Amino acid sequence: MSDKQASFYKSVERNFDKAAQLTSHPKGLLAQIKACNAIYQMNFPVKIGKNYEVIEAYRVQHSQHRLPTKGGIRFSHLVNQEEVMALATLMTYKCALVDVPFGGAKGGVKVSTREYTAEQLEKITRRYAVELVRKNFIGPGIDVPAPDYGTGSREMAWILDTYQQLNNGELDSAACVTGKPVNQNGIRGRTEATGRGVFYGLREMLSNEADCKEWGISPGIAGKTMVIQGLGNVGSYTGSISIEEGDVKVICVSEIEGSIYSEKGIDIKKLLKYRKQKGSIIGFPGTKRLKERGDWVSVECDILVPAALESQINKSNAKKVKAKIIAEAANGPVTADAEKILLKKGVIIAPDMFLNAGGVTVSYFEWLKNLSHVRYGRIEKRFDQNAYTNIVNLVEDLTGKTISDKRKSFITRGADEVDLVRSGLEETMITAYGSIRDVYKRKKKVEDLRTAAFITAIDKIANDYLTMGVFP
Ligand code: NAD
Repeated sequence: MSDKQASFYKSVERNFDKAAQLTSHPKGLLAQIKACNAIYQMNFPVKIGKNYEVIEAYRVQHSQHRLPTKGGIRFSHLVNQEEVMALATLMTYKCALVDVPFGGAKGGVKVSTREYTAEQLEKITRRYAVELVRKNFIGPGIDVPAPDYGTGSREMAWILDTYQQLNNGELDSAACVTGKPVNQNGIRGRTEATGRGVFYGLREMLSNEADCKEWGISPGIAGKTMVIQGLGNVGSYTGSISIEEGDVKVICVSEIEGSIYSEKGIDIKKLLKYRKQKGSIIGFPGTKRLKERGDWVSVECDILVPAALESQINKSNAKKVKAKIIAEAANGPVTADAEKILLKKGVIIAPDMFLNAGGVTVSYFEWLKNLSHVRYGRIEKRFDQNAYTNIVNLVEDLTGKTISDKRKSFITRGADEVDLVRSGLEETMITAYGSIRDVYKRKKKVEDLRTAAFITAIDKIANDYLTMGVFP
C-alpha cells in the first residue's frame, strides 16, 4: 500500500478528531461514531478465459446507527481495506449532513476495469453480489450499494439481477441497489446527480456576497474559471452542468493520458465525444497539452475540481495550488497535511462530504421510489397541469388579456420525475450548506468548512445514538 493510500483513512480520522474536540459529546460516544462497525474482506475465484483468478474485494459498513447502510462500489486496482474504510466512514457523515437516513458503507473490488472484457466484469460483479448476499451484506433494509469509481448503472443492473435470482419474489428487491438504469427501476437524474450537486453546492457557496468578500472572490458563479481532474461520471457532469447552467469557463482538464489547457474554455460535451473517438483528450482542437499530467494542480483559476481519486492534492503539491476554491468532487482528494498548507494560503475548501453528496441524495430518492413502487410525478402531474391551466384561464378572463401559448405551456406544466429529483437535490444542497455555514460562522475555533461539516454531522449522529438509548 502506498503512503498516499494509507494516509487517506488517517486523514479522515484526523479531520474527525479536529472537529470532535470542538464538540461536547462524551468520549465513548465519539469513539463509537468514529469506529468502523463491520469489515468484510473476501477472496473469490472467477474463471477468466482458461484461467482462474482470485479476486480480492471488500464491503465495509461503517455505521449502523441508521439502516440500511449505504455507499458505492469501487472497481480499481488500487482498492485496499483502508481505502474502503475511509470511504465508508465518509458516507456516514455525508448521509447525516444531507439528512439522508442511512448509515455509511462502501464496497471495493480490486480490479483494473481496463484489463477485463464486459463479460468478464459481469462475472466478477455477479460473483461479488453473491458473496454479499451470502453474508447478509446487501438488501433493501440492510445495505444498499450504488456506483462509485469504475462502476455505473450497468454493474448495478447485474447486482440487482443477481440479488433477485437469490431472493425470488421479494417485493422490495429493486431497492437493494441504487444507480440502476431507468428501465431497471432506476430514477431519472441519478447518473448526473453527483456532478449536478457539485454545481448546486458551489453556486450556493458563491451566492453570499459577504462570504465572497471575506474569501477575496467576486460573488456569483457566472464567469468563474474551473479546472477539472478526472473526466468520468462526476467530473464530466460537474463541468458540463457548470458551463450550461452556471456560465462557468472550464480552462483545463486532466485525465490519465495527460492534461490540456485552453484560455478560451473547453466544451466538455465535445471533449467527451472526442475522447470516445480518439481514446484520449490530447490533441482536442483549440487546446495545448501541459508538460506534466500533474500540472493541472498549479493552473491559476477560481475553482479547482479534483474529481478522480483521493490524496491527489498532498504535501508535495499543495504549495503549487493557485486556485481560490478547491471543490472536492472526489472523496478525500485533499490530504490532511495538504489542507494545513492550503488553509494558511487562504484557499477555501468545499469539503467532499457536502459537495459530492448529490449522488447519495438522489440514490435515496431512488430507494424511496423503489419502496413505493411508483414513479415520481405519476400521480399528480396531470392534476397539477389542469389546476394551473384553470388559474391561467381565470387570469385571462379577469384581465381580458391573452397569454401566449408558449408562456402558457411553461406556466401550466406539471412536474416530471426529473424535475422533482432536481428540485429535491437543489433543496438538499442549499439546506446542507446553510447548516455548515451556520456552524462555521457561529462557533469559535472553527477555521474551515470541513470542520464545520464534520461538527454538523457528528452532532446529528450523536443525537441519534442518544435518543436510541444505546448510551443511556
Ligand atoms: P469514474 O470512474 O466515472 O471517473 C473517474 C475518472 O478519473 C476516470 O475517467 C479516470 O480515468 C480518471 N482518473 C483516474 N486517475 C486519474 C489521474 N491520476 N489523473 C487524471 N484523471 C484520472 O469515477 P466517478 O464515479 O466519477 O468518481 C470519481 C470520484 O468521485 C471518486 O472519488 C468517487 O468516490 C467520487 N464520488 C462518486 C460518486 C458517484 O456518484 N459516482 C458520488 C460521490 C463521490
